[in-house]
Amino acid sequence: MLKELGIRNAIDCHTHSGGTDAYNYFVGNLPHTQAVSDLMFKARLAGVDKVVTFPFPGSTYYNTRTLVLEGRREPSGFQDFPYQTENRVLVSDCEQFKGDIFPFACIDPNTEVHKQIDFLRELLDSGKIYGLKFHTLACGCGAEKLITSGFAEFAQGNNLPILVHSGPDALSRPGNILEIGRQFPKLRLCVAHLAALDQEAIFEISRMGNIYIDCSPFLQLCAAVSEGNTSVKYPNMIDPLKPASSLLRYYQLMKGNLVWGTDEPWTTSIEADGVVRSKHAYSDEVRVIEDLFGISEQAVVAITTINTQNFLFG
Ligand SMILES: [Zn+2]
Repeated sequence: MLKELGIRNAIDCHTHSGGTDAYNYFVGNLPHTQAVSDLMFKARLAGVDKVVTFPFPGSTYYNTRTLVLEGRREPSGFQDFPYQTENRVLVSDCEQFKGDIFPFACIDPNTEVHKQIDFLRELLDSGKIYGLKFHTLACGCGAEKLITSGFAEFAQGNNLPILVHSGPDALSRPGNILEIGRQFPKLRLCVAHLAALDQEAIFEISRMGNIYIDCSPFLQLCAAVSEGNTSVKYPNMIDPLKPASSLLRYYQLMKGNLVWGTDEPWTTSIEADGVVRSKHAYSDEVRVIEDLFGISEQAVVAITTINTQNFLFG
């Protein structure tokens, strides 16, 4: 447990809660659900003080059946704009943990942007959100659309950080996120999932003042490297047998730009066909931080507290 080692004020910068991901639920992927109270129970048990959380990637603004069966996005009629319900339910669930949880609202640059922004302004004015989250694959578009849709301008103007999914696919390539950072130098961005271990992008981020990178879920990234999985890029700096010293290598390169997150509940990820991408518990991800503390206390304080506070509040 972190607190027994003297690690206080740890923040987990990447978690999902407050509902169900309809897409994963219908497809049969596990997990697909997490309540805010379950997330907080896991975090407190492990000695993690605070968490950043956002809704699951998918929104039932879209017809889930059409999306699953035909890969097509059409409005379901359940919501007036994307993430209306998901964001509303999340912030209301988070109220009981106020002070210990930083809710981010999900955004979709494809449609009904004005309605989304009006709602975000309402949440912001009542102190209910601390940032925005964008998922490329869930929205079916690249991060560059945050520029043309006006979301980047809105976020920069309101001092709201944006956390963006990244991956090896064309829509999720970290280069798109770096382009936003260049055009909006005062906007704080976080590239999720260690930029899928894209060395070139990681090196570039290490030289930028407004772009952060999260290491979530680190044990799943280690497992992907161990299996030679194409979900991550090669060569990279991970030794799957030594997660803590691998994370230290990334810290030594990234210093002030690296932040720690778990992607809970996706510390475990089992696909519908039974393929296990990772099968860890929240406490396993926390143990990597405990092991890292044994090698470098400074790295732990930076990635669990100082850098995360800088990303959140500037
Ligand atoms: Zn995530």
